[in-house]
Amino acid sequence: MTTTIEHFINGANFPGNSGNSSAVFNPATGEQSGTVALASPEEVNTAVAAATAAFPAWAATTPLNRARVMFKFKDLVEQNSHKLKALITAEHGKILSDAGGEVTRGMEVIEFACGIPHLLKGQHSRNVGTGVDSWSEMLPLGVVAGITPFNFPVMVPMWMFPVAIACGNTFILKPSERDPSPALLIAELFSQAGLPNGVFNVINGDKTAVDALLSHDDVQAVSFVGSTPIAQYIYATASKHGKRVQALGGAKNHMLIMPDADMDQAVDALMGAAYGSAGERCMAISVAVCVGDEAADQLIEKLAPKVQSLKVLPGTEAEAEMGPLVTAAHLERVTGYVDLGVEEGATLIVDGRNHQLPGHEGGYFIGGCLFDNVSKDMRIYKEEIFGPVLCVVRVPSFDVGCELINKHEYGNGTAIFTRDGDSARQFTHSIQVGMVGVNVPIPVPMAFHSFGGWKRSLFGPLYVHGPDGVKFYTRMKTMTSRWPRGIREGSDFSMPTMK
Ligand code: NAD
Repeated sequence: MTTTIEHFINGANFPGNSGNSSAVFNPATGEQSGTVALASPEEVNTAVAAATAAFPAWAATTPLNRARVMFKFKDLVEQNSHKLKALITAEHGKILSDAGGEVTRGMEVIEFACGIPHLLKGQHSRNVGTGVDSWSEMLPLGVVAGITPFNFPVMVPMWMFPVAIACGNTFILKPSERDPSPALLIAELFSQAGLPNGVFNVINGDKTAVDALLSHDDVQAVSFVGSTPIAQYIYATASKHGKRVQALGGAKNHMLIMPDADMDQAVDALMGAAYGSAGERCMAISVAVCVGDEAADQLIEKLAPKVQSLKVLPGTEAEAEMGPLVTAAHLERVTGYVDLGVEEGATLIVDGRNHQLPGHEGGYFIGGCLFDNVSKDMRIYKEEIFGPVLCVVRVPSFDVGCELINKHEYGNGTAIFTRDGDSARQFTHSIQVGMVGVNVPIPVPMAFHSFGGWKRSLFGPLYVHGPDGVKFYTRMKTMTSRWPRGIREGSDFSMPTMK
């Protein structure tokens, strides 16, 4: 039996009536599990109208009361985390413990948003001139939209809407059509928490729905997370329509391994960072840059047997370390990159292609793949594969390693593994990447910091969540006031200056 996945508008499920839909699959079996409605521009208009109508009352709700809804919502997400995890694994394929981690990281942004009265406090200056005071307030924008990728169907939307809504905006989420179900459960939980109708809406759809949001006059801002070509398109199109935009794109994250690194620690870190979630993370490490052949030989020797023996199983199995890829098309794409790497002359140390799992022949499984002797001109080095494929690049020195990383078109995350404080300090100072780890392979900032990459990993000036998130979802109004106390200065026709 397959389920029908529709929209959530104005506090209730909203049946799709565009006549367009898309199949949703269980990646572990390859069987269709659902059908998701794809919204027409008219349905997008209905959602925007609901969000527009809900905005004045929500913006006027005191920040403290908005925070109280967030506290209840956080409790409900926690109580229902087992359902969210199950939905994530059923449609994305990642293992349940990883799905749980994603829910936890999302909840941390809700916790951050619970502090909204403090975060919106504004600024005040007394006596900017004689008898004149000045203050700034941070006010919501109106209706804002979030367009999200398949790889974190709970966490990435939660990077956006808790902050946007706590700031007093109303929100339209357009989740990935590949794993759309968690968003609808989130919407239901938010309603149960007491969020007024129309403040949070979910529109399922594809490019048609996205384009309708990007050009809608009543949408004030767009947050996007996904691949770089689409991020660039979203940034250009929404900007052209006068919207505030933050568009986070793809990645190719390098780990620089110095000869003095604790190699066992580096290998353990690489296993999780390269193969966790089958490499379908924007902060996955996909390139290990080894300084010196000795370090590279040691790394490969320790890493290869671990990659070979990865437990690749359905995400629901307790002992699974890695689940399937998200779709048949993505499996074909990742397999195609492994074929390409062999053609390009890289050494395929572990070949995960044709991974057979009895009873799950239709699932989108691939084993871990490990390439050695990858060079910077190969496409498997330059392009984002977004699968469990780790490329080892050998460099002669720290400087050559840093130069390699700095020249890559992406700049999302990176890490150095070393015991030497000076190398680590040099690395953090000189590397052209937005999020940097020292002996930390996936340096995803906590919710009270902001998340974002450099170069072609982010279009727009502001990162998501943390202080930048609050800035992105608010605009400032600055008041300057004087109360009459019998002081008459007469008319002054020059530029006002404070005397
Ligand atoms: P994607 O770009 O294919 O899709 C993202 C969203 O855009 C989806 O909601 C999709 O429906 C919509 N979309 C797709 N094509 C579109 C088009 N032509 N016009 C308008 N909208 C369109 O990305 P994905 O495959 O779902 O996710 C994987 C990608 O996301 C990877 O590149 C990964 O690096 C990136 N990602 C980046 C971050 C980050 O923080 N930088 C985080 C997570 C994922």
